[in-house]
Amino acid sequence: MATVLLLGGTGDARRLAIDLVAAGHMVTASLAGATAAPAPYPCPTRIGGFGGVAGLAAYLRHHRPDALIDATHPYAAQISRNACAAARDTGVPLLRLSRPVWTRQPPEVWTEVPDMAAAAAALPTGARAFLATGRQSLSAFLTRTDIWIALRQVDPPAAAFPGTGQYVLARPPFDEAAERALFTDLRITHLVAKNAGGEAARTKLTAAAALHIPITMVARPDGAAAEGHSAEAILACLAAL
Ligand code: NAP
Repeated sequence: MATVLLLGGTGDARRLAIDLVAAGHMVTASLAGATAAPAPYPCPTRIGGFGGVAGLAAYLRHHRPDALIDATHPYAAQISRNACAAARDTGVPLLRLSRPVWTRQPPEVWTEVPDMAAAAAALPTGARAFLATGRQSLSAFLTRTDIWIALRQVDPPAAAFPGTGQYVLARPPFDEAAERALFTDLRITHLVAKNAGGEAARTKLTAAAALHIPITMVARPDGAAAEGHSAEAILACLAAL
């Protein structure tokens, strides 16, 4: 039995927490507090930032877990950098849950772009774009007053939609049939997505392909493609501890 601090915030992290607890490990999950009512974890859960590398290192020194597991989203680059630095500073072993990148599956049509600004620039005038890229991405698209935008997010917005378009409030996972129905209802012509990896979130890509909707795929931030471990490898590693 190992004690673990699990940095979470994704469906994969939650599934890993369930497996770790079932295997008898003592897990504390950590969430950023990005959503108001996060899906519950099967273990004690702390919410909010640590206060940078120094704060996370102080937490690790105080609690001395046997392992730190980074199961955050591939686009959450800051917390992953902090986890590396704090693990190095404290000597707590770090395991990263891998989420291999998606590759284009025919008949999907992808335009790969380096960042949100490039994604916004790549959309043609008159596009009806579905942003599956999170609320922080919206500002990059608001300069495009010649397109219509649907932005999906979990929490109700604090104010009316700031551009031409609408919010879509929904919590993952999303099945493919529901994605197809949503894109059809909204008359979506372009999908913008992050290359998050994982099976559960891929349904939007297959739904888009079925409707001949091209996909603008935003690359992962620098360093986020670093190798990680499968959930099975993490469980085996903790069993060895
Ligand atoms: P980020 O830019 O990498 O992190 C910003 C700050 O938020 C970090 O420096 C840290 O604050 C705090 N933080 C992030 N994850 C945390 C965690 N699991 N526990 C405690 N503090 C955490 O992260 P982000 O892109 O804003 O994402 C925030 C959370 O949402 C992540 O946990 C991620 O797994 C989840 N998420 C992100 C995306 C995405 O596309 N970015 C998508 C789905 C889910 P301190 O420096 O104060 O410690």
